[in-house]
Amino acid sequence: MNYAEIKYSDIANGEGVRTTLFVSGCTRGCPGCFNSGAWSFSAGEPFTCEVADRVIASLEPAFVDGLTLLGGEPMEPQNQAGLVDFIERVRERFPRGCGKTIWCFTGDTLDELLPGGRHHTEVTDRLLDCIDILVDGPWVEDLYDITLRFRGSSNQRLIDLNATRAQAEERGVPLDQAICLWHDEEVYSTHSM
Ligand code: SF4
Repeated sequence: MNYAEIKYSDIANGEGVRTTLFVSGCTRGCPGCFNSGAWSFSAGEPFTCEVADRVIASLEPAFVDGLTLLGGEPMEPQNQAGLVDFIERVRERFPRGCGKTIWCFTGDTLDELLPGGRHHTEVTDRLLDCIDILVDGPWVEDLYDITLRFRGSSNQRLIDLNATRAQAEERGVPLDQAICLWHDEEVYSTHSM
């Protein structure tokens, strides 16, 4: 797997201060895509063990709130395969409840990542198990709204996967039938420009 960019101390792609990994490769081709330079799977540099170690080390300071996966498309099957061991390492080093979260932005909707979905692979469940917040759905130019926080168009959802998993388990239904959205701080959720 290649990556296009790593942003340290990023405050634009998830809650708090984060390290954001932009993986290379996306086949979706949304019109007006903000990052068409990352459509090629060979763009950027190889995501080596040394790079992975550097990303994990960047998450150690107390002021860092977590890791964000972006692209390109993290949920392209070959990127899922390239990410899964790394993300499990991150989750093992920073277990839930330690204050560090993992966010993932994908052009897929959650149902497309579940069994039977177009991007469900043998490692997707392992990946989803590690993720706290999934920002799902394709970028839609006509639904672009500059006032939205952490998403570009209004069709995209910020899904709280931990709450969704708990709800799905309690009701005995698939994740996409128990979606719980992430709740922003009130000052942001009520703000309009
Ligand atoms: S899914 Fe994201 S990276 Fe891929 S084309 Fe759409 S906006 Fe661009």
